[in-house]
Amino acid sequence: MEIWQVVNTVFNSCSYVLTQDGASWIVDCGDVDLLLPLIGGRLKGVMITHSHFDHIYGLNHLLSLFPGIPVLTNEYGREGLLSDKLNFSRYHETPFILDTPEVIRIVDDCECVNLFDGVDVQAIYTPGHSPCCVTWKVGEEALFTGDSFIPGLKTVTNFPHSDRRQAQLSREYILQLAEHAVIYPGHPSPIESENE
Ligand SMILES: [Zn+2]
Repeated sequence: MEIWQVVNTVFNSCSYVLTQDGASWIVDCGDVDLLLPLIGGRLKGVMITHSHFDHIYGLNHLLSLFPGIPVLTNEYGREGLLSDKLNFSRYHETPFILDTPEVIRIVDDCECVNLFDGVDVQAIYTPGHSPCCVTWKVGEEALFTGDSFIPGLKTVTNFPHSDRRQAQLSREYILQLAEHAVIYPGHPSPIESENE
């Protein structure tokens, strides 16, 4: 499996493309034009780390190109995809509401979904930044943490539905998991860029 990072134009959110054997999955969806060249073969679906605007705004464009692919999230994420108030896009120039709610697939906490031959993803609910936060653990080696954990940055908990205590518990849990895995955060980590 190969993993590619895209830094989007809105708030420098990160999207990722995972490819193996001529198929791809995407984690979070911002600028579709940046993602398209990285998508190898068939696009199988999208995982959403949380439904804040900067992590989802490209979804309608993407789904117009790849109709019907599933969008994996939790119940709170579903609400955010369908409310420009909850996903905060109402306060931007381009309010976003998912045009095709039927593609939403709710994944339970700890539930596994097969991505590729021999590669599963496990949903790990990591609320705090927002109740819709899911960390996606792909195989044993990759953690897509969204805004629940960005190495070198404090988790932002001043949104209307944030919970600072939950965010701390989620951070601690992600840190445990990260002993055996690489973290792919929802925005570029200042620690990574120092090392480059
Ligand atoms: Zn966020």
